[in-house]
Formats: sequence, C-alpha cells, structure tokens
Amino acid sequence: MNIGSYSYEEYLHLVKSFHGNLAPGLIIGGFMVDLALKELPEGELFDAMCETPVCLPDAVQILTPCTIGNGWLKIVNFGRFALALYEKNEGQGIRVYMDSARLEPWPEIKSWFFKLKSKKDQDLQILLDQIKEAGHDILSLQEVHLHPQFLKKRSMGQTAICTQCGEAYPAKDGSLCLACQGETPYKAVIRLTKESNNRTGSQDIRKISFS
Ligand code: ZN
Repeated sequence: MNIGSYSYEEYLHLVKSFHGNLAPGLIIGGFMVDLALKELPEGELFDAMCETPVCLPDAVQILTPCTIGNGWLKIVNFGRFALALYEKNEGQGIRVYMDSARLEPWPEIKSWFFKLKSKKDQDLQILLDQIKEAGHDILSLQEVHLHPQFLKKRSMGQTAICTQCGEAYPAKDGSLCLACQGETPYKAVIRLTKESNNRTGSQDIRKISFS
C-alpha cells in the first residue's frame, strides 16, 4: 500500500517528523491526497485547497509541491474535512471528503471523527489500525470547478512604508499597515538591541520573559 510516492511506513515517518506526532487526521489526509492524485491527469500543474486548517494542509505539503509558502496551497476554513486538487489556470479538479455515511463499518474512526469518546477513552492503536485498513473506503470523490476569484495569483502590488511602525507593507491596505490599524496580534512590542551589533556597549538591552 502506497500513499503518494511513499510506502505507508515511509509516510508515517514523514508525518512524525513534519507534524510532530502521528495525528490520525493526517494519516487520513494522506489517503485523501493520494486518492485525488490518482484521479488527476498525468503531468498536470495543479494547486490545492483545503477546507480546514486542521491536519489536511500538512498532508498536502508532505505529498505534493503545493505549500502555503509558495502559494499553491490555499486554506478556506469551512471546517469541512475535505480538500481539492485542481488545474491551476482553469480550476477544474477533484475534491475528496471524509464521507460520514461510509463510517459505519469503522466504529473507532467514527467515534474519533465525531468526538464521541473522550481522548483518554480512545484506543489510538485500534484507531490507527482501522484508518490503515479503511484506506480510501471512508472517502468520497467529486469533480469540481473553482470560481475564478479563487484562481487569482496572490500579488503584493505596490509597497509603502508605514509611518507608524516604519516597516514596509502593501500600499493597498491604506495609509498605515494593517497591524498599526489595530489588527496586531501582539499585546506588547518592545524593541530589542542585539548585543552583537552593539559595539558601544549600551545598556539598552532588555529581556522579555514569557509567563
Ligand atoms: Zn505599521
């Protein structure tokens, strides 16, 4: 049994090193990407879309050239356990989703997916065994065609310097960067002076403690 171009065991190894642990959703995600890849025409340049930020983006990044960083993987957060691989210019492609109607024969997968048991009552080994045995059987496929606005290449456009923070940002965001317009995630920001760059031996080195 293979997942993409890897053996099942090789894929588990990659999941552990990339994701940090053997997440059941990422193993199922591997089968999802594998199924979509098998349906795509050979040699097609495809992009990917995940409908949840949970687990599936990592399966795409492990098994395809599509990553968040290169812009070939997008996430639309509908909270649906589904992904699509599609031809990047025209947007026709294959969507694979976790099919609830196919979970009856797999009680451990069903109880994990619908959180019917607490984590401590879930038997991880039985769950992983069922996921491996089920493979593609818990998944369904659709042909899809994406709306053109989802096919647009991301573009930074013109760059401006924010008059408040002094950093470069996309000019289309307005007269200040979005962070300075109030969307910053940081409660506190303290400028640190790097010791190695500080030949004058200034005392202006502060430490932040995170508690
Ligand atoms: Zn700013």
